[in-house]
Amino acid sequence: MNKSTVSYRKHRPSKFKNIVGQFNITNTLKNSIKNKNIAQSFLFCGPKGTGKTTCARILAKTINCNNITNETEACDKCNSCNNFNENKSLSIYELDAASNNSVENIRNIISQIRYLPMSEKYKVYIIDEVHMLSNSAFNAFLKTLEEPPENTIFILASTDKDKIIPTILSRCQIFNFKKIKTEEIIKEIKNIAKKEKIEYEEKAIELISIKSNGSLRDALTIFDVISNSSTKKKIDYNSTIKNLNILDNEYYFEITKNLIDEKLSEALLIYNNINEIGFNNEDFIIGFTEHLKNLMLCKNEFSINLLEEYKKNKYIEQSNRTSLSFLINSINIINQCNIKNNSENQKINIELSIIRISHINNFIRKIEKKEKKKLNEKKYKKENENIKSLSKNPYLLEMIKELNLKIIK
Ligand SMILES: [Zn+2]
Repeated sequence: MNKSTVSYRKHRPSKFKNIVGQFNITNTLKNSIKNKNIAQSFLFCGPKGTGKTTCARILAKTINCNNITNETEACDKCNSCNNFNENKSLSIYELDAASNNSVENIRNIISQIRYLPMSEKYKVYIIDEVHMLSNSAFNAFLKTLEEPPENTIFILASTDKDKIIPTILSRCQIFNFKKIKTEEIIKEIKNIAKKEKIEYEEKAIELISIKSNGSLRDALTIFDVISNSSTKKKIDYNSTIKNLNILDNEYYFEITKNLIDEKLSEALLIYNNINEIGFNNEDFIIGFTEHLKNLMLCKNEFSINLLEEYKKNKYIEQSNRTSLSFLINSINIINQCNIKNNSENQKINIELSIIRISHINNFIRKIEKKEKKKLNEKKYKKENENIKSLSKNPYLLEMIKELNLKIIK
């Protein structure tokens, strides 16, 4: 077994309730089991590491369980469950289409389908990465999918739904797995760390979760790499940053703070620091843009909800210190910072961008001043015109004359 996948396999959920971040899907599946209304073909699609195959296995185990619990979970005690847990089940077949994508592989499956399940209720075929099947394999499969024998169930999984032909899509009940939220990944890693008696620093777990980008499998792989890299079996912040080539978020907050305050030399020093610790320039640009984008999201009561709850406050605080124009202009400048075709000049290009950003607020003030002046001039001109037009008014002239007469009298 690959050392880096140990935690992911060891702590793979065996019940619906333990699947992380896909409550709607597991709930729907449980309801259809409860109501004995199980589709014959499922398609589980979504990004990698979000629980598709795990969910497929739990579904296969549960529908074959002889003693399903009141919570619609497999009992883990009956013969069928035991066989499944010991990988001995003769009624559940798994095929990884990424490596077995030929028409022969599919024909093998089709030839087995004719036989009734050995002892269990259903024969379940789990085909992972189904979009990788060759065209001829797809075609061979289609007929079976159209009219599967009564106790046969197909669970197809794919990370790329767009590559699956519509005729297959239309025959499946489709479940879209979402990226798992950072907060949920944090919670799961902490659970596993506790079970494994591995010490951790909160900030380190947070970084791992962010870096895994919604994939629990990736998060746990990183978790294993870092906990194995130290003899103390501890997940600490510094080794996490080093291992992941991640930049501490604080750097982005600090550099932005100085740019808002127009403290150019401080901002340049921070960037110099980042450069000296050997942090990759492209990753810096991506991270900085992401940071500015997060600040921008805080400017609107609806978009603010796109930020994950646990980091909202800090971003709101910094966002309140700056204007939307500053953020939009900064992102534009960073986007124009072309470092890809110019690897030798990466550092100078980034420094130039930082210099430009540090002038934004001054620039905004100048424009506002100009606008104000223009507006004042316009107002003055209009008042003048009003007076002029009034003095041309004959009625008004009469009034003035009359007034003058009264005064003379
Ligand atoms: Zn059972």
